[in-house]
Amino acid sequence: MSWNYAQPVTIRFGNGRIAELVKEINALGGSKGILITSPSFEKSGLIQKIVSDSQPLIKAVYSNVNPNPDITECEGCIALIREHQCDFVVALGGGSVLDCAKAAALMATADLPVSAYMDNASLLPAKGLPLIAVPTTAGTGSEISSVSVLSDHTKKVKKPLATPAFFPTLAIIDPELTLTVPPHITACTGMDVLCHALEAFWSRQHQPICDSFAINAIRLVMQNLKTVYDEPNNLPARERMAEASLLAGLAFTVPRTNCSHACSYPLTNDLGIPHGEACAITIDYFMRINAQADDGRLRMLAGMLGYGSASELADAITQLKKDIGIMPDLKTFNLTDGQIEGLVQNSQNPILKLNPVEITPAMLREMYNQMR
Ligand SMILES: [Zn+2]
Repeated sequence: MSWNYAQPVTIRFGNGRIAELVKEINALGGSKGILITSPSFEKSGLIQKIVSDSQPLIKAVYSNVNPNPDITECEGCIALIREHQCDFVVALGGGSVLDCAKAAALMATADLPVSAYMDNASLLPAKGLPLIAVPTTAGTGSEISSVSVLSDHTKKVKKPLATPAFFPTLAIIDPELTLTVPPHITACTGMDVLCHALEAFWSRQHQPICDSFAINAIRLVMQNLKTVYDEPNNLPARERMAEASLLAGLAFTVPRTNCSHACSYPLTNDLGIPHGEACAITIDYFMRINAQADDGRLRMLAGMLGYGSASELADAITQLKKDIGIMPDLKTFNLTDGQIEGLVQNSQNPILKLNPVEITPAMLREMYNQMR
């Protein structure tokens, strides 16, 4: 067995550590920065607090990043970066904000439009502006990954772009920032964490370091996700979920996600299902398929987590989904045969090949037909 591992992002984890932002900006020598965030933080007053605490370092704020960020939002960030000649970027928000900011911090250093990189990722520049990523959900793990998922809504395309140049310089993970996340978003983002870790664990590209992160992340989600859904103010449980999100992000950087993420892209693009929920819809189904061809790893995983078998773990995941209000199937959409076929076609993303069991179009069709 031979494998590689590298993780260049410096991590600061702990309650209240957002207060270290100014110190960190100074440490990386930033003098003119942009804060990229989403509209909800305008309302909460957090943006105003960060800008005034970091006077006079943050010169511009772009607060209009929405879920599944569009290339026009990324262009908006790039225009502000150029206007204010920014030399660093702070991203505060969920995965959408972090992905948009990672793209803007890199693409602002070259002249092509964002759409050109969507068509050909090999054109991406080699080095971007320094970026401090502050996640506010638990979460995508985007703060420590080299991937940015962008959408071109006019072309109905959602695409992950990957380059080492997307790695943020620093991630500040402050679990207190997740206390205000509403229950349904907590449920969806928490299931995204579980899918990252499970898919990383069973990926054909699995390797020992990422396995360790994945097993720990799965355990933390199974023990804490229902608690943070039921008790949003439970800070110790929020801390454990923030830890799970980080570990799951580290877990999938090398092995990559596969089955449920491949299917999530059309479920989000065609049906508008939020990313984490779109992944969660199929995860227990795929776990049962993978358990049938298990080489012992899934049985070992289930045993380490206190379950008798992989199918018992799959049952526990199905129950968890029920407990936290994740949709169990696709019945509410009254899908036509044509829509089912569209889902089958668009789920055949190259990452699907990393699932340990070959997933054929016929298997996808059977799955979607069972869920309709
Ligand atoms: Zn994900």
